[in-house]
Amino acid sequence: MAHEDPIPPRNAEEAEELHERLDPETRARRDAALKIVRRYGDPVLRSRALDVARFDEALADEARRMGQVMHDALGIGLAATQVGVMHRLLVYRVDPEAPVATIVNPVLEWSSEEREPMEEGCLSLPGVLVEVERPVHVRVRASDERGEDLVVEASGLEARVLQHEMDHLDGVLILDRTSREERKAAMRALREATAGTSPLGVGA
Ligand code: ZN
Repeated sequence: MAHEDPIPPRNAEEAEELHERLDPETRARRDAALKIVRRYGDPVLRSRALDVARFDEALADEARRMGQVMHDALGIGLAATQVGVMHRLLVYRVDPEAPVATIVNPVLEWSSEEREPMEEGCLSLPGVLVEVERPVHVRVRASDERGEDLVVEASGLEARVLQHEMDHLDGVLILDRTSREERKAAMRALREATAGTSPLGVGA
């Protein structure tokens, strides 16, 4: 499967090529999943999600459904706001062999002074890859889908995905975390992007 490819694309053209190489079934499933994901311009992506108060079966269902959309979209993370649900809930999976992690009401407790830049994509911003500088290590306090306390200490890509998804819960997008030049190019790419041509990047 394509998302097991350990080498992420370095730019939009490379991402486009990867997308073209997907087998037709995987590509169709991905395109269907991406139709569920809210896109740039949708006001929910700019809204702040609310704390989850009820840890019930509906919440567990929501998390399962998000995990499926993320999987089908070949993404490595998904925030509830991206599917139009205003809950502070996110799912992610950096290692394709690992189970999907569900994080509820996350709070960034600590982040390292050490930061690094990396190109990021977003399932809500088809055709866009921009460089984003973020802390390399983070500690996040949260709950799981049953309401049990959770502390996640993450580094590298995992820390990056967590921060990317937590940004979504505050209505913040990678466009807000990149340089003026990259943002301008991204806006151009967004205008040119059409359904079904979104790149296979580190989409989250
Ligand atoms: Zn995103």
